Amino acid sequence: MIIAANLKTNLTRKQTSKYVDEVERFLNANNISQEVLVFPAMSSLNPHAGKLTIGAQNAYPVLNGAYTGEIGLEHLEEFGIKTILIGHSERRHILGETQESITKKFDFYKNLGFRIVYCIGEPLEIRKAGEDELLKYLDTQYAGIDLNYENLVIAYEPVWAIGTGLTPTLNDIEVLHTKLKKKSKAPLLYGGSVKVTNAKDVLALKNVDGILVGSAALYAEHFCSMINYAQALNK
Ligand code: PEP
Repeated sequence: MIIAANLKTNLTRKQTSKYVDEVERFLNANNISQEVLVFPAMSSLNPHAGKLTIGAQNAYPVLNGAYTGEIGLEHLEEFGIKTILIGHSERRHILGETQESITKKFDFYKNLGFRIVYCIGEPLEIRKAGEDELLKYLDTQYAGIDLNYENLVIAYEPVWAIGTGLTPTLNDIEVLHTKLKKKSKAPLLYGGSVKVTNAKDVLALKNVDGILVGSAALYAEHFCSMINYAQALNK
């Protein structure tokens, strides 16, 4: 299974190093065989050799250049980073990334062989409009994306569940994941208010291949407990 922590705009470089060390120690001490990904803030990136993989929350699809506020491939290479999060709802809805710009980014990092965690998810009004509308909406987020890319991981994260404490029911997650699995065989993670208290149940669902965790992953101890649940299930 794949257990991923999106640290967003949290944890300084020093705090991130401590966090990564703590998680790495846990993985080694417990012989964890699950894939563990950590996405720190840009200024907290560091080279890392170990069981866990460090990924970038974002990067511009360019080697380098005049893109104020962005980082490019050259900056990722400096830290040996080959994993990237693309299409996260905060980048779509707060930072205004369009499907077109997301597709360009996807293609650029795909052509370099990056492991891409590609996020999709609907806002509440779409969820309320029913299943057909929901699936239609998610299809628009698949537009231009190579769903057969061998290094692709998909994260289904309902926008209304991110950071809110709300989640779809376990049955709703399972039903939707089963439908999404028909569109792509890529590992499919669930994200949106996963915590120590619900992670075990979510991970146990059919067609859930892992979780992408934000707020609850900020505590290394909590993140490690979730990794432990995945290890025990070992699906
Ligand atoms: C996320 O932002 O990817 C996420 C899942 O956040 P949270 O766990 O805080 O809902």
